[in-house]
Amino acid sequence: MAKQNKTESWEYAPSLEGTSHIQLKKKYDLFIDGKWVKPTSGKYFSSINPANEELLAEVAHANEADVDLAVKAARKAYNNVWSKMAPLERAKYIYRIARLMQERAREFAVIESLDAGKTIRESRDIDVPLACNHFFYYAGWADKLEYAFPNRKVESLGVAGQIIPWNFPLLMAAWKIAPALATGNTVVLKPAETTSLTALKLAEIIEESGLPAGVVNIVTGYGDTGAAIVNHPDVNKIAFTGSTAVGKIIQKAIAGTTKKSTLELGGKSANIIFDDAPIDQAVEGIVNGIFFNQGHVCCAGSRLFVQENIADKVIRKLKQRMESLYVGNPLDKNTDIGAINSKEQLETINKYIQIGKNEGAEIYQTKCDLPKKGYYCPPTIFTNVAQSNIIAQEEIFGPVLTIQTFRTVDEVIQKANNSPYGLAAGVWTDKGSRIFNLTTKLRAGVVWANTYNKFDPTSPFGGYKESGFGREGGLHGLNAYVKLN
Ligand code: NAP
Ligand code: MG
Repeated sequence: MAKQNKTESWEYAPSLEGTSHIQLKKKYDLFIDGKWVKPTSGKYFSSINPANEELLAEVAHANEADVDLAVKAARKAYNNVWSKMAPLERAKYIYRIARLMQERAREFAVIESLDAGKTIRESRDIDVPLACNHFFYYAGWADKLEYAFPNRKVESLGVAGQIIPWNFPLLMAAWKIAPALATGNTVVLKPAETTSLTALKLAEIIEESGLPAGVVNIVTGYGDTGAAIVNHPDVNKIAFTGSTAVGKIIQKAIAGTTKKSTLELGGKSANIIFDDAPIDQAVEGIVNGIFFNQGHVCCAGSRLFVQENIADKVIRKLKQRMESLYVGNPLDKNTDIGAINSKEQLETINKYIQIGKNEGAEIYQTKCDLPKKGYYCPPTIFTNVAQSNIIAQEEIFGPVLTIQTFRTVDEVIQKANNSPYGLAAGVWTDKGSRIFNLTTKLRAGVVWANTYNKFDPTSPFGGYKESGFGREGGLHGLNAYVKLN
């Protein structure tokens, strides 16, 4: 049951999303050259539901030989079919994938919640519709590239190797596959170890859409599977979303090769509240910024900066709001905070919470009973945080917020920019001029004004500094997959 909190004012009866309409196989093979093939090693690994630790399916572990088969299939499809196909025909396939995914949206949402631990509300209302919209959006560009890049000759790159993380499994696959196909490239994609299932369901849809064999290949795995894609000599482009640490390994691995790359990496984004902000909306924005998707969001507003004269009020209201958040079963439509994606990630979060305590910051966690099985973390905030504290510097990737105060605009700009990352930021104020001032001075790829965590396929997304380079989404997202002459 989702209701874990002991507050009196918010009691909802459980409202569980059904699972009888979903179809999961017991065992998934690799999707290579339009067929389901067994891994050469014969090895499979388990994908579990982090909400209750139950097995969902066994998934094939691709090694170097399997990746080689996938790249060969992608190359053959690129040379013989996809690069030669009229752009308008390519568009129809992409559009068909979007339609098929939309028709099975409910099944995708439930599987995403089961496999990743994210709440059904989010997978149903955010992940799956946005993933469909990315395919729709890029289908529209496929035959209009001459307008996207006027007076330039647009060439595709060839085979794109794409590696994605576990926080938005289907959405990240859509972000990567849709623009690659629209620009005439073929794909080898690897989902993250703990969240392969929606990528495999997407492979089923791709099969159903009649997309020519080899245009999209899905290789599941962990450990060296991703590296086998990165190091394959016949891959022309690497599109990676994941941690900064792995991003650096990839950059080293492809240095000196002709491979193009885009890296979408970690973040430690600042959410800034000025004293003229609409406070209740801002509190909602703080909650949305850090507790949305259990804080498993690269652009999470994990560092809160509140103007000093309103800090007490904001923190009081925030604590009140936190007490009304439901932590528990991701499939319950009342749940606000679902399960942490894996045991390892929960350990990482707990390690940082301990570090915060040791650093002398003051912790506040909501009083809720967490389910006995599964991986859960209550919403957590730290006050009395110094700029130099580890919890204010490093990405925690969980529902943990640090709170600092500021007095002047210059001070908060300086504090917000004092981070190795630069993915996103939020600014809450009544003054338009202040918003424009901050958007030019904050070193962040996205700056939201009086809102947080809003996404749209037409809008580019990407980072500064150690948050990576290249943009995904929008017109900019096409750029990453073409050579312009
Ligand atoms: P991760 O450990 O870097 O893994 C990401 C992907 O890379 C996984 O598929 C992983 O495979 C694979 N991988 C691991 N080592 C590799 C190697 N040496 N070569 C090639 N691929 C390798 O990141 P994560 O823990 O899954 O995801 C969380 C991170 O992603 C956070 O830092 C978050 O901020 C970032 N993120 C960024 C964005 C953005 O747009 N900027 C969006 C979402 C997430 P295995 O899973 O099998 O290990
Ligand atoms: Mg899982």
